[in-house]
Amino acid sequence: MFEVVIIGAGMAGAVLAERFAQSGRKVLVIERRQNVAGNCFDTVDENGILIHKYGPHLFHTDDAQVWEYLSRFTKWHLYHHRVKAVIDGKPVPIPFNLNTLREVFPKSLADKLEAALLRNFDYGKKVPILELKKSADSDLQFLADFVYEKIFLHYTEKQWGLSPDKISGAVTARVPVFVGRDDRYFNDRFQAVPLRGYTEMVKNMLAHKNIKLMLNTDFHEVMTLRGEEILLFGQKFDGRLIYTGQLDELFDKKFGELPYRSIDMRFESVDAELFQGAPVVNYPNNYDFTRITEFKQIHPAQSPRTTLLREYPQTYIAGENEPYYPIFTDEARAAYEKYSAELQRFENITAVGRLAEYRYYDIDDVVRRALDIFDELNG
Ligand code: UDP
Repeated sequence: MFEVVIIGAGMAGAVLAERFAQSGRKVLVIERRQNVAGNCFDTVDENGILIHKYGPHLFHTDDAQVWEYLSRFTKWHLYHHRVKAVIDGKPVPIPFNLNTLREVFPKSLADKLEAALLRNFDYGKKVPILELKKSADSDLQFLADFVYEKIFLHYTEKQWGLSPDKISGAVTARVPVFVGRDDRYFNDRFQAVPLRGYTEMVKNMLAHKNIKLMLNTDFHEVMTLRGEEILLFGQKFDGRLIYTGQLDELFDKKFGELPYRSIDMRFESVDAELFQGAPVVNYPNNYDFTRITEFKQIHPAQSPRTTLLREYPQTYIAGENEPYYPIFTDEARAAYEKYSAELQRFENITAVGRLAEYRYYDIDDVVRRALDIFDELNG
């Protein structure tokens, strides 16, 4: 009956379900939670504010096709994300840029460091902190040590339980030092949040007559692997299986558990119109949480109260908390590769998404990936 079965109704699952349904295939989507949209799930809280249950998700892309595709399912609230980080008690704009320089250093020193940056890099360049640290220029050495210590070292230790040099440089390179004056967190052409939220957008994607959605259903309840075969409701399934969960779960953790990083998301309602000077304020130093998000500044709302989210990173423990991030060490990657090799035995299973591919996909990356996989599978 079903030609495509999709495990997980997050962004990867939703895009593939929509594409296959649109091409005339009968699609079954199985989702463990009682809601769609995966970790993009959002909901209006008791203050009338749209909150992101699994942490702030800010859509941004340079990919016009991805933007056009998602725009079929939602209107947008145009929103350019801004973040401040508290350095020595003062919130300053990050990515660390030429404006930040002037907020943390006296004018003469800021002039000197700006000149050093412009001597070594083109205006507009994004320089990963680990690259800046290798600079031979003594002024840049000083600046790199400062930024590393005040912004990256302790935040990364909290977030990952590892120092920046123990994880892939691509992680800290997401938030470079920016040789320019643009204070926005991202520079992409398209930046927005869905007007009525990600969950509404994903519901619209899945609202197709060819899609059957089963919520509250662990995939183990309906399918198993036997040898090189897939059994669906106890019968051999010859269609395409798209798997977007943790890859170790698909194989009953036969090579051990894959590590992921989790976050304890603690929401708080505050009796004030506004709490802080930016939508997100990072606390690299001090405190056990990494950042505070104030959702009202992302999705405007009329309310005498404001809702905050503090993020406390923690180890992922299956069954106890949620997996948010793969771990970007060689060791964790090697553990993943064992499962990835196992997957090759199954011709009709495709693993897609942040959890299943063990990659740091942003929303636009995962949409692009799912669209590409559809094209590949659809010939
Ligand atoms: N980072 C940091 N200090 C900051 C912001 C980011 O050290 O103030 C590092 C940290 O390792 C973090 C990574 O840069 O995990 C990526 O940050 P991003 O804001 O992209 O993280 P996400 O929003 O995906 O959690």
